[in-house]
Amino acid sequence: MDDDVQLIVAGGGSAGTMAALSAARFGIQTILIERESQLGGTSTVAGVNCWEPAVGATGLPYEFYQRMREIPEAVGIYSLGRYGSNSPIPFPGAENILDPRFTYADTLRRYGLKGISIEIDKYRQQLHGVIFEPDVWHRTAVQMLKETGCCSVWLNKEIKDVRRKNDKTIEAALNDGSHVAARRWIDTTGLVACRLGARCFLGNNPQNPYLEGEPAGLNGVTRIFRISPVDVPRIEPLADDIPEQCWWQKDFPAMVCTLYPNGDRHCNMLPTFEGNEFMAMPPEIADREGLRRVASYWHFLQTHYTEFQHYRLAKIFPRSGIRETFQVECEYMLKTEDLLLGCRRQSHSDIIALADHARDTHGRGKSHCTELAWPYGIPYRCLLPKGCPDLLIAGRIAGFSKAAASSCRLARTMMMLGEAAGIATALAVEHKCGFPDVDVRALRDLLRRQRVTLESDMESSL
Ligand SMILES: Cc1cc2nc3c(=O)[nH]c(=O)nc-3n(C[C@H](O)[C@H](O)[C@H](O)COP(=O)(O)OP(=O)(O)OC[C@H]3O[C@@H](n4cnc5c(N)ncnc54)[C@H](O)[C@@H]3O)c2cc1C
Repeated sequence: MDDDVQLIVAGGGSAGTMAALSAARFGIQTILIERESQLGGTSTVAGVNCWEPAVGATGLPYEFYQRMREIPEAVGIYSLGRYGSNSPIPFPGAENILDPRFTYADTLRRYGLKGISIEIDKYRQQLHGVIFEPDVWHRTAVQMLKETGCCSVWLNKEIKDVRRKNDKTIEAALNDGSHVAARRWIDTTGLVACRLGARCFLGNNPQNPYLEGEPAGLNGVTRIFRISPVDVPRIEPLADDIPEQCWWQKDFPAMVCTLYPNGDRHCNMLPTFEGNEFMAMPPEIADREGLRRVASYWHFLQTHYTEFQHYRLAKIFPRSGIRETFQVECEYMLKTEDLLLGCRRQSHSDIIALADHARDTHGRGKSHCTELAWPYGIPYRCLLPKGCPDLLIAGRIAGFSKAAASSCRLARTMMMLGEAAGIATALAVEHKCGFPDVDVRALRDLLRRQRVTLESDMESSL
């Protein structure tokens, strides 16, 4: 073991990058390991470069936004525009348009809505989100991590295996044959936790004890694409292997289409694959099928909605956007009851982040979005895998039931979990204790000092 390394963070997505940043800012010598060539995970390589409204996303997400905003056309605040076939000019789903009247503070609330079909104007007034350039997310993250002077970013390194080397050290084998070890780890991939013996459950597995009566099947998977305006309108030709009459035409979904600051559009089908269908395919087949489905869907858009003839297909993001993988069993498993009670009535004393996104699933016959009345809190114990005192879980794989995960998986909520995990590491190092023994009151105090919102009557601490 390199004695200088105090923390290894597995996975450089939204949660992992913020975990590394927040720990390194407290002087913790950190290595961040990411298998892709970019940081950001789902938010960059899968093209999910939109932050939907999320209560509690103050702290690091706000600072991160401010940094990205320094770059021209890197970020925009959006509002709902046209919605479906009832619009004067019909639209194949929901359109998000940029609205310079709104600020980041306007993107910090979702709760209190009743359903888009019954109060669409309220959605237009209340719901605002952030769109950002994925490359800028990556560059901002690398720069902020560099400024700490305490974090090494290892890109293109995949963790292949993990073992407990002795009672003080967890060691990983990487794809290049090298090994790396540290006493404390934060896992955002699930691999480290599973290899160290934590129980992990795929959402649709009937053995999963954290199902709450929801329909079987995994949340849908989406291959996101980007379109750019062109001067001369036209329908782009289909590749030879894509038939005009598409094999999945009857299942063509609606999409959420969001304007980028540079005039491009971000296209998010709801969804491209059923979750189970995607998981049953070998990865290379699923990858190719995703590209074919985007091509055929794009052809459908151009032929049925003439406005899209003024655009070209500019980019299909390299990775599929997978909404649901598996959850690691943690000391507390957040559940529907927490979401319904809301943080004012939850009895937890260890809440380290707030969330308020609807319970939200996508897929044939099972798409539904159930709004919440109040924000709810996520306890620190959701980050503590059972039986692994030197490991914290951050990100969407943390201790959530399937239903709770469908709500609290938003990227900025994952950034908040990362921020809390990084600060918890600093406290564990300072007090020479395991993660379960971290003083939660001190953790919450430090979070508040970083302007993290922990109480529901603080709508925004900006
Ligand atoms: C289609 C889709 C649409 C969504 N829409 C929105 C939205 O509009 N707004 C919103 O806020 N949220 C949205 N979400 C949710 C949100 O984007 C994700 O839940 C969130 O980004 C997950 O962040 P994470 O850090 O937990 O995981 P990830 O982003 O998955 O990060 C995990 C990282 O670990 C890396 N990794 C995995 N295994 C290894 C390994 N063995 N070795 C090294 N590295 C590894 C991965 O490459 C990845 O970078 C959407 C999600 C999807 C899929």
